[in-house]
Formats: sequence, C-alpha cells, structure tokens
Amino acid sequence: MFILRLITKKDRTNHADFGKILIICLYDSKYIEKGQDLSNISLLYEREALKMQILADLPKIPAFIRNSYQLWMGAQWSKETPHDVFYGTGWIHEVLGRQLARKSCMAHWRDAKVTGNTAQLIEPTTTVLDYTRDIAGELQEFTGADTPYDALIHFQTPGFENPLTAGDLSKIHDFVRDRQVDDPVGDHPNVSVDVQNHIIKCMIDMASINESKVEILYETAHPACLGYGGVEQGVKLGVTHDPHMTPFKSLITNWHEIGHAVYRQSIPYGHFVAGRAMDEAIAFLFEYYIGYSDDFMQMMLDEGLAQCGYDMDMLKRHSTEIVRNTKRIETNPIRHFIDIDLCEQLERALVNEDIEAEDCEVFWARLVEPYADIFPTDYPYYYDVHMMSGIYGDRPCYNPGMLAAMQIGDAKNVTTDNFNDIVMRVAQSGHDRFDTAVKDITGQSLSTEPFFKWMTLKF
Ligand SMILES: [Zn+2]
Repeated sequence: MFILRLITKKDRTNHADFGKILIICLYDSKYIEKGQDLSNISLLYEREALKMQILADLPKIPAFIRNSYQLWMGAQWSKETPHDVFYGTGWIHEVLGRQLARKSCMAHWRDAKVTGNTAQLIEPTTTVLDYTRDIAGELQEFTGADTPYDALIHFQTPGFENPLTAGDLSKIHDFVRDRQVDDPVGDHPNVSVDVQNHIIKCMIDMASINESKVEILYETAHPACLGYGGVEQGVKLGVTHDPHMTPFKSLITNWHEIGHAVYRQSIPYGHFVAGRAMDEAIAFLFEYYIGYSDDFMQMMLDEGLAQCGYDMDMLKRHSTEIVRNTKRIETNPIRHFIDIDLCEQLERALVNEDIEAEDCEVFWARLVEPYADIFPTDYPYYYDVHMMSGIYGDRPCYNPGMLAAMQIGDAKNVTTDNFNDIVMRVAQSGHDRFDTAVKDITGQSLSTEPFFKWMTLKF
C-alpha cells in the first residue's frame, strides 16, 4: 500500500522523484523508526539543533533529512497539534522534496545576489512556494485561521498580535526621512579580531551562559542561535565577526544572539519559546534596550573599544545613525519596521495565491515605491533570506517582537544588573502564547507606546 501511495501521487519536481527512490531504499532500513515510539518533542528539539549545525557548516545535512522523515513519521499517528499538521503534510517522498527544493532555492539565491540574474529564481521559488501553500492550506483548515498565510504566522507565533498601524508606519517614514544620511559618517576605528573575541567573551560571561545547556560554535556563517535548553547542550549559539559590518554593529549582533541563548537555555523540557515574536523580543531587548544603554557601552569601551580609539559619544552617534544604503536586517532599528512590513506583504500575496513567483519583481516594485525617498536605489525583493529558504510566516514576528522588547524593558526597568533574572522568569513561566505572555510579564497588552518613547529618548 505504501509503494502504491508513492506512484499514484503526481510529482511536482525531480526532487520528489529522487525522494521516491530514496524512500523506497530507506523504508525497511533502520533509519526510520516506528512512529509510535517517537516523542515529537525530542524530535523537534533535535531538528532545531541540527539547523544550527548546518549553519556552522558542519556536515549534518543527511542527519537533518533523516530527522525530517522522523518528524513526518511521528506526525502521521495523530493530528492533534499544529506541529503534527506542519510536519506531517504531504507524502513521505515530498519531505525530502521540500528539503532539496529549499536547498536548491538557496543556491540560486546566492548566485542571483552576485549576478543580479533574477530569472533563475522563479522556478525554485515556485517549487518551494507550492510546498508551502500545501502546508499553509492544511494549517488553515486545522486552525480556522482567516487565510493560509495567517495560519503560518500563528504557527510561528501562537497568539500573534501586531498593534502597528498605517499611521505608525507613516510616522516612522517621516522620522527616517528627516534623519537619514546616505552612507555612514564619522570614524569607525578598526578593532582587531582578538579584541572582538575578548568583548564577545565578556558578553557571554555577563549573560551567564550555561555551557551544560548551550554549545557555543565559533566562526559560523553569521551569528545565530537555535534549539532548546530542556536537553543537554540543546541550545546552539553561533558567534562570529563580520568584516563587512562596522565593529560596533558586528559586536552588537552577537549580543542579540546571546539574548536568544539566555532565553532558550532556561526553557524547561517540553516547552518552546512563546512564539518567534517573544524569541525576537528577548533578543531585541538585549541588542537595543540593554545594548544601547550607557552601562553596556561603557563595558564595551572598558574591555577594548577605548584602546582602539572609541569613546562614548562615538558609540552613541554610531548606534543611532540612520543610514539609507542598508538592507533588511543590517538596517537601523527604526526603518526596520518598514522593511519587515513590506516583506510580510510580499509573503502574504504569494502564500495566499494573489500573485505567483514570477510576479515578485513587479509586485515588490509597487510595494517599495512609496518609500523611494528612504530606501536604497537598488533594493531587490529577493534580499530576504527567510523567504528564499522557504521560511514563510516568520518575518512578521520581528515587528511585534521589537515592540515587546521595549515594553518589557520599560515595565521591568531592565538594566545590565537585572536582565538575567527577568529573562529566566520569562523562560520558565511556561507561556506558549505571545499575547498572553506579553500581558502577563508587563501587565498590559502589546502597544507601540514604549517603542516610540525609546525612539525619542535615544535618537
Ligand atoms: Zn533574532
């Protein structure tokens, strides 16, 4: 019956063909365990950790694919949670098809970024999108969400909410236009790798990273953090330096990821982050609320930046500069709201079948048009790596995440002295919904007010 399923299912891609062959080879082998014995929680933890191994360029891709099969098998025996639906959708050969399609899309994306040849992106984007639409459709049916895309957002962040209005975006637009400069101004003295490593080490110590729960990987493709602390070294923290960024930005990006690690290391077994929005909220709390404080900047100066020629005024000027020629994640925390909002609109149109992959360029041109006075002249739609790697529904969490960071910082008077306790309590509260977690921690529903207060104070 199993083989019959495979040959009656119409194929979408060559990847799926390859998947069929492989799964026939694997089916009776020891690689796939019986679903009844699997604990999906452990599998989900394993998957998170493996994603990081890939980023660190460790040869874990076969393990990642095996884990995808395990998840698919585990999800076949019940359809009780959105995770079951998300990982169990499609036929088994499509699990591999999905992985390979995402990998292929990433390869074409890297190439397109260099050559500017966007035509080659259409086919792999279409394939990844088709898989995503199938999952989103099933999730929508399961959760009763308004649209398939909303189902994906709520899968990534249960209890998702975003109080940012069109009026707020227009206020941000005006602020950025008045303040922006085309390119970074002022001095950014060189900071040697040794000094950067020393400062990163100080950040890790300051954050009380628990090395029995967190495995630290050095020189990853970019700083990152994944996994859960409910299992031994279940959290993977990647730290590194980026010569393309200014030393301050490069250092503070590691501090962002250390924030994820502090949150994730304290999550008890069986629990997850309170949605991706809360995961980002804690990381932004580190990067901007704590990272832009005098105490934190003084620590960076004392531990090495002062000897490289920096002073407090330089760091403050630099951290609050709004530079026009920046894209997506590397931009400043103010314009970032607009970048994220447009990403969300593009993803939404694609997943909800309002446009197809070949329409991306035209659709994106229309989206960025009102912001022509604050965006770089060349700002292609494919700059967003999440969409290109098939992670849809995750990007929108960054805006409420930033708002929640400021609201938590404000409500709890977060400082370099008390942040560890506060984050640990958030992690151990057992919250799995973002909206109720925010309300419980801060005593109020999510609002934009603390963010605008912070913006006026710092910028
Ligand atoms: Zn993050």
